[in-house]
Amino acid sequence: MNPPNSLRIVRTPAEMRTLSHGWQSAGERIALVPTMGNLHEGHFSLVKAAMAQADRVVVSIFVNPLQFGRGEDFDHYPRTLEADVLALTLLGVDAVFAPQVSDIYPQQTMADESASGTVILPPAHLTNLLCGASRPGHFTGVATIVGKLFHMVAPQLAFFGQKDYQQVCVLQQMVEDLNWPVRLEVCPTSRAEDGLALSSRNQYLNERERAIAPRLYQTLLRVADELREGSRQYGLLQRQASDSLLASGFDSVDYIDIRHPHNLQPAEQGDSQWVVLAAARLGKTRLIDNILVEGQPALT
Ligand code: AMP
Repeated sequence: MNPPNSLRIVRTPAEMRTLSHGWQSAGERIALVPTMGNLHEGHFSLVKAAMAQADRVVVSIFVNPLQFGRGEDFDHYPRTLEADVLALTLLGVDAVFAPQVSDIYPQQTMADESASGTVILPPAHLTNLLCGASRPGHFTGVATIVGKLFHMVAPQLAFFGQKDYQQVCVLQQMVEDLNWPVRLEVCPTSRAEDGLALSSRNQYLNERERAIAPRLYQTLLRVADELREGSRQYGLLQRQASDSLLASGFDSVDYIDIRHPHNLQPAEQGDSQWVVLAAARLGKTRLIDNILVEGQPALT
């Protein structure tokens, strides 16, 4: 039993709905922070932003099989529920929703299998590029779990990190297309002192790889400088950035792309706002990062 005003650990969708309905009937504003757990300062920044804007904050912790492909790290993804709950208790959140896979997907599926249940299929123009190109089915898994969480938690607000930029674009489109009464809030990427974006996957890095990893952000910053200084040779900048990552010790580069910040389409000559996104592999770890850039409007 949870004493009043303490953090509640909610295990089933039915229990989550009851709790949310109670808050809603009292006129309280609910915020959801969806996570896969193994929480770090990046997640906590989302939680703090949510607490500043809502009466009730629910953090979901669910390693979602539907967004992992075969051969990806679903089985090994770090699961640290006890430590996560402790940290969230200290922060003062209202509930942790940590359902079982069998409650969410009675017939479990992975991203690259044909789904055995109903899924949310985001549009191809947002998913057949960047991370979606190297992770088939990933964004269907993301949209489906977030949609299901929206139904179970019924939040007015939901908080996401800019670190997963394409994810935010896909979810924003989903909310608009499916008329979800939820406002998405996007929080800046939290970084280690050397610039590496915080991620649960950073702990897969060995010492040598951890020393190389900040080059990803440094490379994005260099591309950003070139754009601000007026370069519009997008192809050349991308090739140079990719070569530089490989020369720094990255084993492969899935992409480093300069894109339009709203629709993720390739940048055009007249653009003055961009998002530069990258995914690169160091050993068995796949790191992603991105940076938003504003430049001078093109002279006409
Ligand atoms: P995850 O647990 O990795 O699925 O992430 C849950 C949420 O935290 C997502 O909205 C992520 O974008 C966000 N997040 C993860 N890492 C960071 C970070 N370094 N800074 C800000 N938000 C983050």
